[in-house]
Amino acid sequence: MRILVTGGAGFLGSHLCERLLTDGNEVVCLDNFFTGSKQNISSFAANPGFELVRHDVIDPFKFEVDQIYNLACPASPPHYQYNPIKTIKTSVMGAINALGLAKRLRARVFQASTSEVYGDPQVHPQPETYWGHVNPIGRRSCYDEGKRCAETLFFDYHRENKVDIRVVRIFNTYGPRMHEADGRVVSNFIVQALKGEDITVYGDGTQTRSFCYVDDLIEGFVRMMGQTETPGPVNLGNPGEFTMMELAELTLKLVGGRSKIVHKRLPADDPKQRRPDITLAQKVLGKWEPKVPLEDGLKRTIAYFRKRL
Ligand code: NAD
Ligand code: UDP
Repeated sequence: MRILVTGGAGFLGSHLCERLLTDGNEVVCLDNFFTGSKQNISSFAANPGFELVRHDVIDPFKFEVDQIYNLACPASPPHYQYNPIKTIKTSVMGAINALGLAKRLRARVFQASTSEVYGDPQVHPQPETYWGHVNPIGRRSCYDEGKRCAETLFFDYHRENKVDIRVVRIFNTYGPRMHEADGRVVSNFIVQALKGEDITVYGDGTQTRSFCYVDDLIEGFVRMMGQTETPGPVNLGNPGEFTMMELAELTLKLVGGRSKIVHKRLPADDPKQRRPDITLAQKVLGKWEPKVPLEDGLKRTIAYFRKRL
């Protein structure tokens, strides 16, 4: 197949492009390089099945492809809050443009949605049936509400125009090719520990997240796109749940060195707890479940950053 990946030069997008090429597909990677980079795709850029297009998803795009994965959108809080209006445009207009193309081509189209649609959840762990607890006017809203609106668009195009959609809600995923200055917690802690700088825990560090290694997630993407049982939404993530203090201590132990843990102000609306209920994914994605424990995934990610720094 020929497959379009928007946001293909980003962290997840580059791993997805690589996997699709390995499976024998042709890949068109579309990216505006806001948070992505040519370096992320350098190891497979010379593959004759790979094409790179610099383009912004808020402007319509036209390709002849069999499938579309829509990943374009900054994902780390500092990056998506840098230009919040642009973030909403990227989510909403990007979704409309991806769906319009899918409609014309009768192509299956995948949306990288997020656990942020659950906001600061009052149900724990979060099943897909939970509608969420989202502040519509806060600093995180440009991302959360943009992604919620994109889900709405996907399901309206599905109901109104019979577009063949697949929607996944991704929980915190980490691994090699995260940007050194990405700002998300795993890369921040690793880079700080490797540089011997203070490890910045926001708030008291009792808030929790569930961390999925990138390879496990990408396997889930491909299985989601390959099945016909449900358009989604389907949660994808690792149900192992850790406090940020636990993550800081584990990172320090694995990196070694003499960094100190310091506490910084907790950002507004920071969700207090998050863990995916992956019952549905296990059922519809051929017994899919994450295989890489946090410690192993951190070791691989640390090895990547050690080389880069
Ligand atoms: P990332 O920032 O590394 O990748 C995003 C990519 O999209 C980058 O290459 C960026 O340059 C590109 N992009 C941004 N705006 C664009 C635009 N207007 N036009 C074209 N390209 C644009 O982040 P990531 O972690 O790889 O996330 C990929 C997708 O997965 C995003 O949609 C994100 O919301 C979603 N997601 C990721 C996670 C996670 O934990 N990594 C969690 C939930 C959802
Ligand atoms: N966090 C932290 N130190 C950092 C970066 C983030 O303690 O240097 C915390 C943040 O407040 C949040 C958790 O780690 O509670 C996950 O943050 P991230 O930005 O990775 O993702 P998200 O909040 O979107 O899940």
